[in-house]
Amino acid sequence: MDISGLPTPCYVVDEDKLIHNLTILKEIEETTGAKILLAQKAFSFFHSYPLIANYISGTTASGLYEARLGREEMKKENHVYAPAYKYSDMEELVRICDHIIFNSEMQYEQYHNMCKDNTSIGLRINPECSTQEGHEIYDPCSPGSRLGITPANFEKFLEKHDGRLPNDVDGLHFHTLCEQNSDALEITWKAVEEKFATSLSQIKWLNMGGGHHITRPDYDRELLKNLVVNIKQKYDIDVYLEPGEAIALNAGYFVTEVLDVVHNDIDVLILDGSAACHMPDVLEMPYRPPLQGAGLPNEKKHTYRLASATCLAGDVIGDYSFDHEVSVGDRLVFDDMAIYSMVKNNTFNGTPLPCLIYLKQNGEYEMVRKFGYEDFKNRLS
Ligand SMILES: *Cc1c(COP(=O)(O)O)cnc(C)c1O
Repeated sequence: MDISGLPTPCYVVDEDKLIHNLTILKEIEETTGAKILLAQKAFSFFHSYPLIANYISGTTASGLYEARLGREEMKKENHVYAPAYKYSDMEELVRICDHIIFNSEMQYEQYHNMCKDNTSIGLRINPECSTQEGHEIYDPCSPGSRLGITPANFEKFLEKHDGRLPNDVDGLHFHTLCEQNSDALEITWKAVEEKFATSLSQIKWLNMGGGHHITRPDYDRELLKNLVVNIKQKYDIDVYLEPGEAIALNAGYFVTEVLDVVHNDIDVLILDGSAACHMPDVLEMPYRPPLQGAGLPNEKKHTYRLASATCLAGDVIGDYSFDHEVSVGDRLVFDDMAIYSMVKNNTFNGTPLPCLIYLKQNGEYEMVRKFGYEDFKNRLS
């Protein structure tokens, strides 16, 4: 990959890698009949939506803006789920979404009559089955969670409706996983089947959310396929999966340039890329992003702390080691920067937004979007 001529900072989305992932997902759709949706909150690089549309069934959104984007740029099935909708947003959502998922009994009661005949209504459930440890911030089943209707609340809801799901509810939705394998889905499905048994025979579709790391090399796809096929057969329903990460996993890079090298016990590189502005998950998760050609601290000859040109003392990406000395003007390339990166960007410190570049399968770089001062100014007043 020749990055020497690219303006920095920039994100590069790799078409070849994207197609690799999409091919895996399409095969799952074809062999199981599952429908796969892009969860846009992870990856909204809509330049590639026409490509993605050739492989999977559509988009899902976290609210009005993403729903509009899916409708305008993907033009396939368009689902939406939010923990709560505003009335003013609902008017448009019922026009542009074919599936609307409510998070609570109250939201359903408030808005279900606004839905049109061609809008399919779903309810998000909370199976109270945590399968991830350590990341409570990413666990929708953690104690006190607001995400989804708990089994106890669901029972009360059914009682109010003569012991069954209201006729206009077509589907159930759960989302409980994060970067997980299909064994966690199997455990979760067992909990769903046990706790929501009576309703499963009344629905037309089940959406099993995201967090399935389907395109990761060690993901057990056979187990996923068996689960989907069994659920579809047993209940005669459609099954949806809405991964975000899996669609663009390892399909993007972040390229940044070294602006200065300072020394204070350790050698520190000051970059035009920022953890706080351009890769906030590094600070939020937190995690250490993979960097091409670099190792753990002291693994290679020259160790540096990678930090940014913002004023935030903690705007540090991590410590990395290199075979060679790093100098001003060198470029560094972080891997796996398509997901949860550009969607979270901000302009703190007046930091420029990175350009968006598409690396096409034929090896050409296409400049998709450049940002400037106006993009910073227009968000303020
Ligand atoms: C975040 C989220 C997704 C996508 O999750 P990934 O971890 O990116 O696969 C799907 N559905 C819902 C409801 C979500 O909140």
